[in-house]
Amino acid sequence: MAERAVTMEKLVALCKARGIIFPGSEIYGGMGNTWDYGPVGVEIKNNIKRAWWKRFVQESENSYGVDAAILMNSRVWEASGHTTSFSDPKMDCKKCKTRHRADNLIEAHSKGKVNPDLMSDAEMEAYIAEHHVCCPNCGNFDWTPIRTFNLMFETSRGVTDESQNKIYLRPETAQGEFVNFLNVQRTTRAKVPFGIAQIGKAFRNEITPGNFIFRTIEFEQMEHQWFCKEGTDGEYYEEYKRRAFAFLTDLGFSPEHLRFHDHDKLAHYAKAACDIQYLYPMGWSELNGIHNRTDYDLTRHQQYSGKSLLYVDPTDNSRYIPYVIEYSIGADRLMLAVLCEAYDEETLEGGETRNVLRFHPAIAAYKAAILPLQKSLAPQARAIWETLKKQFSVTYDEAGSIGKRYRRQDEIGTPYCITVDFDTLENGTVTVRERDSMAQIRISADALSGYLADHCVF
Ligand code: ATP
Repeated sequence: MAERAVTMEKLVALCKARGIIFPGSEIYGGMGNTWDYGPVGVEIKNNIKRAWWKRFVQESENSYGVDAAILMNSRVWEASGHTTSFSDPKMDCKKCKTRHRADNLIEAHSKGKVNPDLMSDAEMEAYIAEHHVCCPNCGNFDWTPIRTFNLMFETSRGVTDESQNKIYLRPETAQGEFVNFLNVQRTTRAKVPFGIAQIGKAFRNEITPGNFIFRTIEFEQMEHQWFCKEGTDGEYYEEYKRRAFAFLTDLGFSPEHLRFHDHDKLAHYAKAACDIQYLYPMGWSELNGIHNRTDYDLTRHQQYSGKSLLYVDPTDNSRYIPYVIEYSIGADRLMLAVLCEAYDEETLEGGETRNVLRFHPAIAAYKAAILPLQKSLAPQARAIWETLKKQFSVTYDEAGSIGKRYRRQDEIGTPYCITVDFDTLENGTVTVRERDSMAQIRISADALSGYLADHCVF
C-alpha cells in the first residue's frame, strides 16, 4: 500500500487554518470532544449529507425520509433497551484521575489480537491485572474496578427536575424511524419492503479521547432502516453491505482503505452485524455499521406503546412485524474519512510542495473559485461570479498572486479555478484550471455553468 501523507496532526492543523473545523468553545479553553464546523467545513459536511440522501432516498426506490424530534418520550428508550444497557465498561486511574474504557485498554494492549467484546467485566478486569495494563495517561497501575456508566445525556422537562420529568437527548436517530414506521407506511402507501431514512444529531456521553471528529459527544448520524419480510432479510443484508461499500468507492475511497469486519459478539436481537472499517491515520476503525435487527425494534415498540405495529400485506392479507436491516453511518466520521482520503502533499517541479484535498467535486465546499488575473479585471470576474452563484456554491478571490490563490483553493479542495484575464475582454473566454492535474483549458464564460454541472454531479 502506498505511503500516505496524512497524519491527524496535519489534518487538524489544516482544518483549523482553512476554516474547516475549529475546536469547540475555543476562547473558553475548549470543551473535550466537541468541534465546530467553520465556513468551509459546513459546506463540505452539507455536501456529504446531500450525497448520502441523494443515494439512499432520492435515487432509492421505495425509501422515504423523516426528521424526527431529538427529544422523545422516555418510554422509547425503555423499549429500545437504552435505559438499562447502553453503557461502556469504565475504569478510573486512581493516580491521575483519568477515565478509560476497559475494552479499549485491552484492545490497545493486545494490539487488536484480543477481542474484549467476547469478555465479561470480570474477565476484562482479570486480563488487565494479569497483563499489568497501565494507565495510558500516567503509566501507573492503580485502577478502580469496572463500573458501567450509561452513555445517554439526561435532562429534565418542565420547571422541576423530578424524576418523572427525566428525558434524554437521543443517543441514536434510529428510534425516530421505528416509531414512525406506520405513519410513513400509511401516508406513502408503501408496500414492504421499503425504507425510512433520517439524518440528525445524536448525543453520547463518551469518555474516551476522540481522535478529532472520530468520536465526539454530539454528532450526526445518517441512518437507513429497510423494513422487509422475514426470510428475505439475509438477501437484503447482503445488498446493503454492497450498497454501503459502493457509496464509499463512488465518493472516491480506495477499496484498499476499506474492509468489512463481522461482529464477533452479536447483540441478543441481531441476526447478523458487520462494520465497514476505514484505514484512518490511527489505524483501522469503524466507519459505518450494517445490522440485521430482526423484528426486535418494532416488536418492542408494539409491546411498550400498546399500539399495533403489524403490517397488513395487501397481496394475501397476512399480518406481520417486518424485519429491519439497518445501515448507519456518522456524518462527522465520514467527513473525517473523506478528509483523510483526500489529503495529499505533492512535490512540484521547482521543489515546492502543494497541499491539496482531492475529494469528489460534489463534496467540495466551492465548485469553483473565480479569480481575476489583475484587480482591474474585477468587474468582469464579479459578473461571472454573480451568474454562477445562483446555481452553485462558488467563491471569489482577488487578493494575492494567482499562484497563491490557486494554492489556497487546492488546500480546501476547490475542483476548478476560473481565471479571468485580458483575453476574456477580447473574446469572452476564461481559463479553467483543474485541481488534481493543474491542467488548464480555455472555454467560453457562457459555457461555465454547463461545465460545472457536468463535472460536479454525484
Ligand atoms: P463505536 O463502536 O465506534 O462506538 P458504535 O458501534 O457504537 O460505534 P453505532 O451505534 O452503530 O456505533 O452508530 C452508527 C455510526 O454512528 C457509527 O458507525 C459511527 O459512524 C457513528 N458514531 C457512533 N458513535 C459516534 C461518536 N461518538 N462520534 C461520532 N460518530 C459516531
